[in-house]
Amino acid sequence: MTTSPHPPDHHLSAAERQRTCAACGRPFEPGGRTGLEAFLDGEVHYAAVHEGCSTHPAARESTIAGKLRRMRTAEAA
Ligand SMILES: [Zn+2]
Repeated sequence: MTTSPHPPDHHLSAAERQRTCAACGRPFEPGGRTGLEAFLDGEVHYAAVHEGCSTHPAARESTIAGKLRRMRTAEAA
């Protein structure tokens, strides 16, 4: 399955312009799937990242930490 909800030329142009992932810095694989992340730097920009990579690892970690905390609280109750 290679269908994507995103317009292909929209995120291809970002990946082609950057050539490397905004999150991990490794180059995009030819034909590999990429995602786009919006960020603010005075104005809205879009950064191309590997699918599964995120330029916001802290936010993701805090979500996991919050989940674990809720699990522990549920166990203790
Ligand atoms: Zn990456």
